[in-house]
Amino acid sequence: KGKRAFIAGVADDNGYGWAIAKSLAAAGAEILVGTWVPALNIFESSLRRGKFDESRKLQDGSLMEIAKVYPLDAVYDNLEDVPEDVKTNKRYAGAKNWTVQEVVESVKKDFGTIDILVHSLANGPEVSKPLSETSRKGYLAAISASSYSYISLLKHFLPIINPGGSSLSLTYIASERIIPGYGGGMSSAKAALESDTRVLAFEAGRKKRIRVNTISAGPLGSRAAKAIGFIDTMIDYSFTNAPLQKELHAEEVGNTAAFLASPLASAITGAVVYVDNGLNAMGVGV
Ligand code: NAD
Repeated sequence: KGKRAFIAGVADDNGYGWAIAKSLAAAGAEILVGTWVPALNIFESSLRRGKFDESRKLQDGSLMEIAKVYPLDAVYDNLEDVPEDVKTNKRYAGAKNWTVQEVVESVKKDFGTIDILVHSLANGPEVSKPLSETSRKGYLAAISASSYSYISLLKHFLPIINPGGSSLSLTYIASERIIPGYGGGMSSAKAALESDTRVLAFEAGRKKRIRVNTISAGPLGSRAAKAIGFIDTMIDYSFTNAPLQKELHAEEVGNTAAFLASPLASAITGAVVYVDNGLNAMGVGV
């Protein structure tokens, strides 16, 4: 029987979430995605109008099918958490049931269970500010959207993830090495995410034999990364300095995700897996 995956953080065909969806689809999984509410309309209409058809193509020539797109804002656990100005915001008022708890309830109603949970989202409103100039509000917002969002998704999905299932997130080496420019508490958020990966691996492993890993990905010119502003420099730096001097393809991260979600990785949990052309292993740029 095929597996079912829920991928949170897909709003176009450029990012890691899309690539992971494709690799999982190619491996035979049924694909559900969670799309940030403000990006929902344009994503769904682009899908409908065939704008993504070229990038939906899988190796065998078929097109990736997305069984259902769920509006999601992973900063809110349930309706009581949503402030009035967001509830009535034009970009939110048109969609329904997009808090984490409601999304999980909808998935349960529509499909019953899932086997694979992927968290491919992050947000840091002050990412372009150095850490020492970051406000408390900006720092907490980065942690809320980029770290706690994963705890919340896993917590709510856990009851409907089949035993033996797998969960993963995306992290970045700025958690453990100094990457000037990755500010606003985003480096802290990734450090929390990696630490939480270990603790959640223990808890989900003991509770339901579910594996929890994170992929430390190299730089990709996604929409989120372009918003940070220094992504082209990071891509050039990696190309020049990594052991493998080649472009990093989102598909390579997608394929690692498919491996980690598969029985081939049945003894891997609590791990940070680098998919970065080996850049993390370098001590100096040469
Ligand atoms: P992306 O823009 O494709 O993905 C980020 C997604 O997060 C977007 O779809 C956005 O709509 C969504 N999002 C933001 N706030 C949200 C919220 N509150 N609720 C729900 N969704 C929300 O960009 P990406 O670079 O592929 O990012 C995916 C993951 O990969 C992130 O965790 C990112 O930190 C990580 N990552 C990226 C790089 C890189 O260079 N691009 C490197 C390492 C790790």
